[in-house]
Amino acid sequence: MKEIATVARTKEIMETFDLHTKKMFGQNFITEPGIVRKIAEASQVTKEDAVIEIGPGIGALTEQLAMRAGKVVAFEVDERLEEVLAYSLAQYDNKEVIFQDFLTVDVASIVGKLREQYRNVMLSANLPYYITTPILFHIFESNAKIDRITVMMQKEVADRFAAKPSTKDYNALSVITQYLYEVSVVMKVPRTVFEPKPNVDSAVIQFVQREHIEEVASRERFFQVVKACFDQRRKTILNNYGKFLGNKEEASRQLQEAGIEPSRRAESMSLAEFLTLYRVYEGK
Ligand code: SAM
Repeated sequence: MKEIATVARTKEIMETFDLHTKKMFGQNFITEPGIVRKIAEASQVTKEDAVIEIGPGIGALTEQLAMRAGKVVAFEVDERLEEVLAYSLAQYDNKEVIFQDFLTVDVASIVGKLREQYRNVMLSANLPYYITTPILFHIFESNAKIDRITVMMQKEVADRFAAKPSTKDYNALSVITQYLYEVSVVMKVPRTVFEPKPNVDSAVIQFVQREHIEEVASRERFFQVVKACFDQRRKTILNNYGKFLGNKEEASRQLQEAGIEPSRRAESMSLAEFLTLYRVYEGK
């Protein structure tokens, strides 16, 4: 049988169930088998591994993951897809579809259970655009040990996750993410391969947990400091950090101690410089 991601099979499945995509759920289905194959390959899942998928839709990526993985656990918010997925993925008995909003899923507990049985736990998805960042932060903040996260998202958002200092896309999200993960761009994906076609292009990004994360006194406070430094992008680090501390003189003193010129802007600061500033902040 043809792969689900082909135009013909997608059409057949949608017509069989009289299924119309729902914009409110960010439903843009992939109709190009080469793309889902490449996401599954980049995910590097083997029969010894489990993979979590967010938003299987009609199963285009799920199918590719099920062919390669020991187990696929997919979370889908749209309950209309229950009978559709039972039909489209009937031949794969290593899949489990749970109908639940992923933002309410206890990620650490799911991952913990899968780790008891499988060598690696990966996460792969073609994410719904409207909640890409909340979903990723739900995963990051769970502190679950996921070996490799391979996700498609709007290209502009992907650019921010992967951005380097002194570029227009570099912001607090880039710093916080790159503190936790090695971030790389797997591929760019044109808007033309989706049904319906979105107004934006996409990119597939991979996050691999960094082996030696420099521990900080409190991750939460470190992230607060980073966010505060970017508060008003056009303003100097002295202005933003001074506002955060509620004391410009103290901010100036701490910046000098960290070796950071107070007239600089946060967008020019490397991850190492944010870490140095945070250490001075905690040692105050
Ligand atoms: N994986 C399919 C594909 O690539 O063709 C569908 C991707 S589509 C961009 C996003 C999917 O996420 C939709 O099936 C949508 O119903 C689902 N979704 C949206 N919000 C969700 C949420 N909060 N939790 C779980 N799934 C969600």
